[in-house]
Amino acid sequence: MEQRKPAITYRHATLQDADATLNNLLDLVVEGTWDWNRASGEVVRSPGWYRMLGYEVGVFKQDVFTWENLIHPDDYPRVMQNFEQFTAGKIDHYSIDYRCKKQDGHYLWITDNAQIIARDDEGVVTRILGAHLDIHERKTAQLELFEQNRLLRADNVTLEKLITQKARELENRNRELQQKIEQIEQISNTDPLTQIPNRKKFEEELRTEKSRSDRYGHELSFAMFDIDHFKNINDTFGHETGDKVLKKLAAFISQNIRDIDFFGRWGGEEFVLIFPDVPLEGATACAEKLRRLIAEYELFPGFKITCSFGVTSYRTGDSIDDIFSRIDNALYVAKDSGRDRVVELHVEAQS
Ligand code: GH3
Ligand code: MG
Ligand code: MG
Repeated sequence: MEQRKPAITYRHATLQDADATLNNLLDLVVEGTWDWNRASGEVVRSPGWYRMLGYEVGVFKQDVFTWENLIHPDDYPRVMQNFEQFTAGKIDHYSIDYRCKKQDGHYLWITDNAQIIARDDEGVVTRILGAHLDIHERKTAQLELFEQNRLLRADNVTLEKLITQKARELENRNRELQQKIEQIEQISNTDPLTQIPNRKKFEEELRTEKSRSDRYGHELSFAMFDIDHFKNINDTFGHETGDKVLKKLAAFISQNIRDIDFFGRWGGEEFVLIFPDVPLEGATACAEKLRRLIAEYELFPGFKITCSFGVTSYRTGDSIDDIFSRIDNALYVAKDSGRDRVVELHVEAQS
């Protein structure tokens, strides 16, 4: 078999000569080499190693402390640990990135690769050959990218948080607005003295119930009542007492009707009731019950009042005016026939 011949043949008289050739070659192909010899304690560094860091060639002592002193303090523990693990045989490959101090005081990122080239009889590492490579540009670009990514991620998180926070604020604001609207509606629909629905609300309710009755053919009845001789109460006990009577009466009626019945203040000492789903007779019975309850109710010790009621029911096609004219007539009749009574007006009675 033909033996391949190397392109260049080196012949050296001594081992030192061979080392010199090796070091010269390494100096050409890598930025910096180092050659550690346990026996002498020396570390021989190539001229390229000095040039890479900007130092004058050969300015440092050829020992490990030169190296250690140049390592960035933040990288130092990691580099030492790696070296120890390598020499102890705990890791197979020695390849590590770290920063070395340059002559100008700045730090240069290098990658350090090494190989064990000699051991003694007991296997203790006696010589290591290493090469330093300038990776500063790549490393700083990589770190910059990493930092940018980190910031971007941090920004994204902040942005997400910001959006969530804004959405929450908006939600709260909407809720507040909704509450305000409800408050305003409540105020605009409520009689300030008695705190029951006012005439405006009553008219709305009346329209709603009228449409419902038209749609489903449900019965629908109404009552209006008026305090008898209320003027006398004001005149005798004062307007304030009159107000208290109105409040007490409103609260009393509210407690004595069904939830689905509507009760409101029409104005003055006149009140209205809507009885959905209730025919005239039912509404009359209910009005009669209320009339009796009022007459028996002691608003203040020894103080009672009476009320007169007009009742009617809805007939399809009735206008609100039709309903009111009937209910007004009924109430008039109740007053005219002696008060403290319920008068119902059938729809037929009107035509
Ligand atoms: P009738 O039995 O015919 O209904 O006689 P009345 O005295 O109750 O009727 P009238 O219409 O003559 O008087 C009603 C009175 O109610 C007159 C008015 O001053 C009083 N009034 C109306 N609104 C209020 C109010 O909010 N508070 C007080 N204290 N009095 C009111
Ligand atoms: Mg009146
Ligand atoms: Mg009255």
